[in-house]
Amino acid sequence: MGIGHAAVALGASRAAPRVNAGILIFAAFLADFLLGVFGALGVERAHVPPDFSTRHYLTFTFPYSHGLVVLIGWGLLFGAIFCWVDRQDRVRALWVLAALVFSHFILDGLVHVPELPVLGQNSPKVGLALWNHMPLELTLETVMAVAGLLMYWKLDGGTRLSRWGMAVFMVLLTALTWTQLFSTTAPTQSQLVPTWIIAPIVFSGIPYWLDRRRVAARTA
Ligand SMILES: [Zn+2]
Repeated sequence: MGIGHAAVALGASRAAPRVNAGILIFAAFLADFLLGVFGALGVERAHVPPDFSTRHYLTFTFPYSHGLVVLIGWGLLFGAIFCWVDRQDRVRALWVLAALVFSHFILDGLVHVPELPVLGQNSPKVGLALWNHMPLELTLETVMAVAGLLMYWKLDGGTRLSRWGMAVFMVLLTALTWTQLFSTTAPTQSQLVPTWIIAPIVFSGIPYWLDRRRVAARTA
């Protein structure tokens, strides 16, 4: 899933308005960032199905970044690190961040084929394969993006830059998510690994910058 992760994070900004939306979005994408790290270490990877040109999606071996139990652990760790650095409203921030990291399992579990392991590569695997109905799946993500943005817009203290900038960012990320429907040539593992690492940083860095004045005004 693409924009859907950012959408859930923007929705969660209502529950943790003191936390920068960029941090929330990074939490929602943390599993993909970890996939890049474990991919670089050679322990996780993508596979290209023979019918990729008509399926438009890859399959994965990713027990350390996308497993049910490990994502609970990564979520608690990420939340704890954030609360150690930023001590305001820490209990709420911890739970919201941990829940967002874990939400990646739920959302990817909707779209992937059954390949998200419960605990370890040989455990039962989850996946409802909504990617097999890709226009429907992408429409669902687009609706989520609109809902997430509307919830972000309702936050107190939003500036013109934070509101409209976030709208433009979400439109661009939604368009980027839709390009999956038209992809007929699969990327190589050596192209994927840097993308998995860099994309979550860029997709959270831009909203972090857009949201910084709103957060500063709230915590002042
Ligand atoms: Zn993922």
